Amino acid sequence: MAEPVLQVEKLKIYYYTLRGIVRAVDGVGFTLGKGEVLGIAGESGCGKSTLAYGLLRLVPPPGRITGGRILIDGVDIVGLPEPVVRKKFRWTRISMVFQAAMNALNPVYTVGYQIAEPLMYHKGMPKKEALEEARRLIQLMGLPPSIADRYPHELSGGQKQRVVIAMALALKPDIVIADEPTTALDVVVQAQILNLLKKLKMEIGMSLILISHDLSIIAEMADKIAIMYAGKIVEYGDSIKVFTNPLHPYTRGLIAAVPDIRAPKGKLSYIPGSPPDLRRPPKGCRFHPRCSRAGKRCMTEEPPLIEVEKDHYVACWLYA
Ligand code: SF4
Repeated sequence: MAEPVLQVEKLKIYYYTLRGIVRAVDGVGFTLGKGEVLGIAGESGCGKSTLAYGLLRLVPPPGRITGGRILIDGVDIVGLPEPVVRKKFRWTRISMVFQAAMNALNPVYTVGYQIAEPLMYHKGMPKKEALEEARRLIQLMGLPPSIADRYPHELSGGQKQRVVIAMALALKPDIVIADEPTTALDVVVQAQILNLLKKLKMEIGMSLILISHDLSIIAEMADKIAIMYAGKIVEYGDSIKVFTNPLHPYTRGLIAAVPDIRAPKGKLSYIPGSPPDLRRPPKGCRFHPRCSRAGKRCMTEEPPLIEVEKDHYVACWLYA
């Protein structure tokens, strides 16, 4: 097993709203090894993006981390003062490719300047040198270095996404979180971006957390997978094992819902119902109102995440 670079234990992130407490991430744990890709999948609103922001200690108010640990090389960053996290961890050790590239870029600065900024701030690099490094990074992303002098509105969607990836890699972090990095891109550009991430992972040796609702992307890229439902991980492990032998009824439903271009025409499969309101999640197994196999115990007792075979965990009473 690869040496762990990130260990997350019983992490809880709640939003304290006027209408109640939203338990967006509720006791999540996983390990990411050096050079590994962990895919996190689940429906919209299951807590994937909140988890990503939490790992960077960037949860916006009224949200906050209310429990658990985030260990980067053994150091728990949950209780560290913000200036220490900013100086020693965020962007330098763990960075993020944000969802929707256009929103992640400042429209009034050239993209070269935006890539150079963290180099000036964190490394004290002179502006000229930082801009040179930005051009090198842009080239590494497969774009002409002259792109550095352009503004975000002058770039295509695929070019902007590459620039956002360059920003995330500027300080050579050990861990990169890519939150839906290919959403809103056409399939050709999507394939280019995924190939770029694969190439960078090999060349730089970074570990990657890939967040997506698209299971085909996760299957293509990930060594390990975590399936999230209603703020919890319900299945976790080696991606080949999870994809070839999905155990949790929710994972099975998600996989069955992926359209197959070779299958005969007919009804598309889907999971009935919708995810619960996380202010008042169902008692017991949170999936029980949508589960065709739910029994009495499922409605009252929460199933623990247990290892059912090597590197394959599931939280479901069918396997306990
Ligand atoms: Fe379905 Fe029960 Fe398993 Fe939950 S614990 S997924 S309700 S069978």
